[in-house]
Amino acid sequence: MRYIVVKNIGELVTLKGSKGLRTGKDMNEAQILKNAYFVVENGKFTEVGTGLGYQKYQASALIIDAQGKLITPGLIDSHTHLVHAGSREHELAMKLAGYTYLDILKQGGGIFDTVAQTTQASFNDLLNQSQKTLNRMLLHGTTVVEAKSGYGLELSTELKQLEVAKTLDQRHPIKIINTFMGAHAIPPQYKDNRPKFIALLKEMIKEIKKQNLAKFCDVFCEDGVFSLEETREFLTFAKSLGYGIKMHADEIVSMGGASLAQELGCISADHLMATKESDMDQLAKGRVVANLLPLTSFYLNSNYANARLMIKKGCGVAIATDYNPGSSPCENLQLAMQVACLKMKMTPKEVITATTINAAVSLGLDETKGTIEGGKDADFVIFDCPNLDYLIYRFGINHVEDVYIGGKQVVSQGRIIGV
Ligand SMILES: [Zn+2]
Repeated sequence: MRYIVVKNIGELVTLKGSKGLRTGKDMNEAQILKNAYFVVENGKFTEVGTGLGYQKYQASALIIDAQGKLITPGLIDSHTHLVHAGSREHELAMKLAGYTYLDILKQGGGIFDTVAQTTQASFNDLLNQSQKTLNRMLLHGTTVVEAKSGYGLELSTELKQLEVAKTLDQRHPIKIINTFMGAHAIPPQYKDNRPKFIALLKEMIKEIKKQNLAKFCDVFCEDGVFSLEETREFLTFAKSLGYGIKMHADEIVSMGGASLAQELGCISADHLMATKESDMDQLAKGRVVANLLPLTSFYLNSNYANARLMIKKGCGVAIATDYNPGSSPCENLQLAMQVACLKMKMTPKEVITATTINAAVSLGLDETKGTIEGGKDADFVIFDCPNLDYLIYRFGINHVEDVYIGGKQVVSQGRIIGV
């Protein structure tokens, strides 16, 4: 059959609208069509409409009846630490006893535990663990994932992580975008010689560039981790090599990370739980994606980023899981959307904008992903929900019924097929 036609869609969230990042009030303008259909040819959407307009394709189309359900573009998880070994459930008791992330880090735990496990893990062990994670993401409606390295802090393990993600990008239906994040922590042996570690990071990204293993570089800019000056030095160098740049900014302490992200031309600034109002203005001015990670706040029982004020100030917000073994061991992007609504007071329309088109912008993919309109990749999710509000209202469960990537069905009735 030449075409695929999906008809009888109760609510079709197309996200059709202005090009690029949706900011401020525009985030609440997600186009929703009722009694809709769309047409797919050669893995791309070709036509979107309402009523019976699809009938002209009937003779040459596979017809899928959506039975009045909700369809959105494939969800995009724009901030994850996908590839790592092991888990850190033993930190749960410390967390419950009131130790903070930085307390655990100072004791040599936290990320350094995962670094040790990831360094020791074989390529295949990492591949198998990450593939399981990707399968869970796919079952929850995620069709694109960003994958950061940063559990090696030296070249060979960083390369191993990035190669695992690249291999999975080729093998798994989910599209994976690699980010180098060797600047995730200062290894203890460089504690008293930080410039030497920055120099090493620069050497690493030259090699990673040669092997074409990452599109972005990211830095954990935070009190006690990388300073503003160190972040500026490293990201300026990364940019000069042609990398897109990102920052973990203002997660715990407000250091002006968001303003630095604007100054350097970062595509996104992530976390932003402690960002000051004046720094939000800079994000809006620079059209830097404010990539917010509500599951991290939920899991750490810390404050949430002030999404309402950011949107009021004209920022473009994205929402991601921050999937990682320490502060967000959860692959469920639907839950991140629900928490963003319930705890950060974002509307369902803002939240779906944040996990589709705005997330696509933060990965440089908005020409091909993030909306349902002619010419874009036919990535879409059929949810067992009558409408978008229901997807948020019935929280904590998986609503996904079917997932298609590039017009090919990869999840059917809640099960992965053909992987
Ligand atoms: Zn992160």
